[in-house]
Amino acid sequence: MSPVLSIVIPMFDEQDVLPTLVARLRPVLQGLELSYEVVAIDDGSRDATPVLLQRYRREWPELRVVRLRANAGHQAAISAGLAMAAGDWVVTLDADLQDPPEVIAQMVDAALEHNVDVVYGVRTDRSSDSTFKRGSARVFYAGIRAAGAKDAPTNAGDYRLMSRATVDAVNALPEAHRVLRLVVPSLGFPSTKVGYARAERAAGTSKYPLSKMIRLTLDGFTGFSLAPLRLATWFGLGGFAAAMVLLAYALISKLAGFTVAGWTSTVAIVAGVGAIQLLCLGILGEYVGRIYGTLQGRPTYYVAYDSVDSCSAPDPSGSARLPLQPDDISAERPNQER
Ligand code: UDP
Ligand code: MG
Repeated sequence: MSPVLSIVIPMFDEQDVLPTLVARLRPVLQGLELSYEVVAIDDGSRDATPVLLQRYRREWPELRVVRLRANAGHQAAISAGLAMAAGDWVVTLDADLQDPPEVIAQMVDAALEHNVDVVYGVRTDRSSDSTFKRGSARVFYAGIRAAGAKDAPTNAGDYRLMSRATVDAVNALPEAHRVLRLVVPSLGFPSTKVGYARAERAAGTSKYPLSKMIRLTLDGFTGFSLAPLRLATWFGLGGFAAAMVLLAYALISKLAGFTVAGWTSTVAIVAGVGAIQLLCLGILGEYVGRIYGTLQGRPTYYVAYDSVDSCSAPDPSGSARLPLQPDDISAERPNQER
């Protein structure tokens, strides 16, 4: 029988925070008095996260452990969790306790009270985030809304509750590099919000370096807006107009017998036009790359291990038990090679 509530938690090298997470999350879920499962997606961690998860699973039958073969990234890890979660309602939650698990009760209440499909956790207080994080978030939300993703609620990250219908709709999308915080609002399903104060990371360090933030931003923009492509068109048109003016200027100068000796202007023009062309090509490349990626249809994650398929511990879903796989054993150890 499928549980009422699934909690999907992506984890990448979260050994420091796991004990605190379990200690705080488990009483909250038990207090709800609903059947539930916790789907922990170990996103190719290189530390002791898989070992700890196995240990917790032995005494926490509702914990399901899924290990991805390689680090697939936050969004892909959540996608993996959404594909596996069996609950009528699914909450996605970060492992680092920045999003307090206590809010889950409010989310469930809000969903039932307002009869909606999605409840967004909205950060009303981000004072614990760094100035850079807050500033970049503000630019991201303002930019993405201006670029076309108008439904995206400001300051809603990936802490949200979704109905089964919503999760099925997301799972059915063919899009590979989904930015879920934009994809879910774009479905337009009835929704409400629950505010919460964003806490500090309980332990460990951020797994979101600048490179991953840039990737997320690019995925967000290219996934949700044709505005950058149009920008290329406008640059192109602007460049063409400027070139025409320059041509006229050059012709008039020649006819007037006034020849320009300076090479500075030539260099400036070549460089300027070259820059615009490269920029436009880059923008075009982003979209072509995405089209190519979608055509290839490559999965964004690969599952190495799923505790539901294992017979080494109680099975939360009660589904058929398969013999122990070689992967189960390798997943017990942290992967030192990577
Ligand atoms: N995460 C992941 N794969 C990654 C990077 C991050 O599963 O490649 C997880 C991470 O373990 C955490 C969540 O995504 O549960 C959010 O990451 P983090 O808290 O480090 O990001 P920040 O809050 O600093 O933006
Ligand atoms: Mg965090």
